[in-house]
Amino acid sequence: MFKKIITRFALVIILQSVSIFIYSAELPTKPKAKYVFYFIGDGMGLAQVSAAEAFLAAHEGQIRFEPLHMSKLPVIGLSTTYATNRLITCSAAAGTALASGFKTSINTIGMNDSRTSPLYSITTKAKAKGMKVGIITTVSINHATPAVFYAHRPDRNDYYEIALQLPESGFDLFGYGGIKDAKGKNNDLADAYDNAVSNGYKIIKGQEEFLSLKEIPGKIIVVNDRLEDDESVPFIIDQTPKDMPLSRFVEKSIQLLDNPEGFFMMVEGGLIDWACHSNDAASAIKEVIDFDMAIGAAMEFMKLHPEETLIVVTADHETGGMALGNALMKYESNLNLLSYQKVSQPVLKQHFQEFRNTKCKNGCQFEEIFPILNKDLGLGKEIPLTGYDSAQLKLAFEASITKKMPYDNDENNYLLYGDEEPLAVIAIKMVSEKSGIGWTTWAHTAIPVPIRAKGVNQEKFDGYIDNTKIPKLILEAMDIPQ
Ligand SMILES: [Zn+2]
Repeated sequence: MFKKIITRFALVIILQSVSIFIYSAELPTKPKAKYVFYFIGDGMGLAQVSAAEAFLAAHEGQIRFEPLHMSKLPVIGLSTTYATNRLITCSAAAGTALASGFKTSINTIGMNDSRTSPLYSITTKAKAKGMKVGIITTVSINHATPAVFYAHRPDRNDYYEIALQLPESGFDLFGYGGIKDAKGKNNDLADAYDNAVSNGYKIIKGQEEFLSLKEIPGKIIVVNDRLEDDESVPFIIDQTPKDMPLSRFVEKSIQLLDNPEGFFMMVEGGLIDWACHSNDAASAIKEVIDFDMAIGAAMEFMKLHPEETLIVVTADHETGGMALGNALMKYESNLNLLSYQKVSQPVLKQHFQEFRNTKCKNGCQFEEIFPILNKDLGLGKEIPLTGYDSAQLKLAFEASITKKMPYDNDENNYLLYGDEEPLAVIAIKMVSEKSGIGWTTWAHTAIPVPIRAKGVNQEKFDGYIDNTKIPKLILEAMDIPQ
């Protein structure tokens, strides 16, 4: 009997240790993304990235593609971007899908497609887990792409209401455009910045104060020294040393958010989209290169925590129907011409407005605009003009400067100039086209966009997937339940 008990006892011990052995063999320490970088190039399709790579090589006098940091990430896949009610998506619907993992309708921010219930972003889950969260963009922090990570509104144009929801997120860092419509559309409501301050946020104003921070002083909203239309940071092509490039902002944000519980950083290159809406290749390419330098900063950080970091780079959609080739240039490219362009389309437009206000009071001639075209774009100087080009420029001059041509945004005008100032748009598009870049639209396209990844679970970002799958894969990498 005693022997039997001993034998049984020994058997139990043996079985237990075997099962412990099997258990521990089955459970290697699961890799977990403690540091997550989610880079969203707004409007950044494959053409935008490839144009930047070909431009960099052309600058060295070479015909090839100089790989950007993002092209060195080991995994690349493709993602569809459509909304529930339209094949060609918008930043609100695509952003909601990228943030929450659920598709929604056009213009909807963080809600289902019938706009009856909220959809929560993966950053909300990361924050609840104790990670620090940073929401970074070059456009206003209540614009569609950043908004989908913290707000729930039926319309992306509810900028004021979106801004009021921002402090409820409790996220640690917002930057570094401003708040659009901070006092409402009619400028008569309580200031959304004050609301953020009374809810525990500190406003950090400008590069000097931001870069001098040794550690994050609680929850912060960082605003660039100089803001442009719609409270965006100036385009990199227009920046002065007072402005921060996105890459510097991200580098500093990494230092501030780094902590033992980890962080989640969403970085939007918002101005890539804006440049492509005005078919401005030089500005778009320079935005892509700066966005890519921010990705480089994340890759540097990753070297310190290779087992615990995940970097994902994608886009919400493509903008402009950009192509490396066009009918005018046939088989030729001359991307170096883009180097003569010194300003973005909005700044060129300002220069034309100043010209109109100062030189055209008593009538002005087409030829008088050439010093601006020469200086800002190299047009008519380093970039020679044909008779056809001059005729096109003259028509646009008459539409927008002397108003000899009625410019009422009818269908024909829209095809020529979009919603923009005719002369600025035509002149910039001319530089793009002579460089060999093509455009098909002033709006977005439905073409699938690349996803690139490195780090925890990187192999899962491979293949042809839908945008709703991307946040689910990121959650899985963070080991947070869906
Ligand atoms: Zn977008």
